[in-house]
Amino acid sequence: MKIHEFQAKETLKKYGVPVQDGYAIKELSELDKALSSLKAAGINQFVVKSQIHAGGRGKGKIYNADNRAELVLEGGVKFTKDENKVREYAEKMLGNILVTHQTGPEGKKVKTLYITEGLDYKKELYVGILLDRAVSKNVIMASTEGGVEIEKVAEETPEKILKVWIDPAIGFQPFQARQLAFGLGLKGTAFKNFIPFIMKLYNAYEETDASLLEINPLVITNDDRIIALDAKMNFDDNALYRHPEIAAYRDLDEEDPLEIEASKYNLNYIKLDGNVGCMVNGAGLAMATMDIIKLAGGEPANFLDVGGGANKETVANGFKIILSDPNVKAILINIFGGIVRCDRVAQGVIDAVKEVNVTIPVVVRLEGTNAYIAQDMLKKSGLNFEVASSLKEAAEKVTAVIG
Ligand code: GDP
Ligand code: MG
Repeated sequence: MKIHEFQAKETLKKYGVPVQDGYAIKELSELDKALSSLKAAGINQFVVKSQIHAGGRGKGKIYNADNRAELVLEGGVKFTKDENKVREYAEKMLGNILVTHQTGPEGKKVKTLYITEGLDYKKELYVGILLDRAVSKNVIMASTEGGVEIEKVAEETPEKILKVWIDPAIGFQPFQARQLAFGLGLKGTAFKNFIPFIMKLYNAYEETDASLLEINPLVITNDDRIIALDAKMNFDDNALYRHPEIAAYRDLDEEDPLEIEASKYNLNYIKLDGNVGCMVNGAGLAMATMDIIKLAGGEPANFLDVGGGANKETVANGFKIILSDPNVKAILINIFGGIVRCDRVAQGVIDAVKEVNVTIPVVVRLEGTNAYIAQDMLKKSGLNFEVASSLKEAAEKVTAVIG
């Protein structure tokens, strides 16, 4: 699960990680209160930050939600010392569409703003923590190249990314924190402040069952404080039950509506950009099916694992989800009847097609127990199925009907 920057900073604050003061607002009417609270704390420069679940906001563009051709503002994150500008930026961002290199051209509607203290700083750094699956350890990555896309740094100058791996048995050690601080070229007070910063940051990552914690940029202020200027946190969904306060941060507006619908039916669905809808039982088989569709020259419209049961109800729900995507031109059903017999699945598919009223071509490949009986049932159903006996044949048939 992803959360917004202001939520990540709220979380980090609880673990003692230094962040700027700030207030999240959903309405312009809340702006005055946010500003006066900041001013009461002696703050006289501000940052207006669009809150969407995507990065690259600073370099993004704000477009008018009612007239998508109209560019309203350059930048979804704006620094200013002028209170009137804060108001102007807030008006331009809130309710409009922010397009960044991560949102795709359709962009995301800005529904929340984060009004924060604006800092002066002398250096931007990068810190990221995530699980390195290859070695089954968490890795802390740090770089002097903060404020830019880390993917670019990794590709062009990988030697500028320092890494330390954390042994799960002994945890993050102070010498490793010093190793990072040396590697970043920190000295004096900045060095001294970095050690507790990174120790607390790692603790926050571990305690919250985060799967990613990224601070880009992490800044060294003119008076050598170390502060997280930006914060991105993702969490392991399977651990959310341990963190109700984090689970409550879930923002459904930021998620794909079809994926939300699918999760209500307990279906594992990921929307993709192609036009071949896929309905498969088992995640591995679903991946293989998408591969073979591509191999046959098609483009999968989704990943969908209907689970082991594949009965009339799950298949019908699967059809509903797949058909809600207007790009879908044909459907490939690929089900292995191991736990459930193929003739039962075939009956489920036949009933579901009648119930949901599927009008686009459906290619079905059933393999396993009673596969021949199932194929016969589908052929005799009087419905418009293309029956295939191998995965290759199924993929070729479905790409052929799309043309
Ligand atoms: P992102 O573009 O989505 O990664 O959003 P960030 O929170 O990283 O902000 C984008 C950029 O805005 C930063 O890289 C900074 O250059 C700038 N920025 C954000 N907050 C401040 C601030 O307090 N002071 C200054 N001087 N610049 C800031
Ligand atoms: Mg950033």
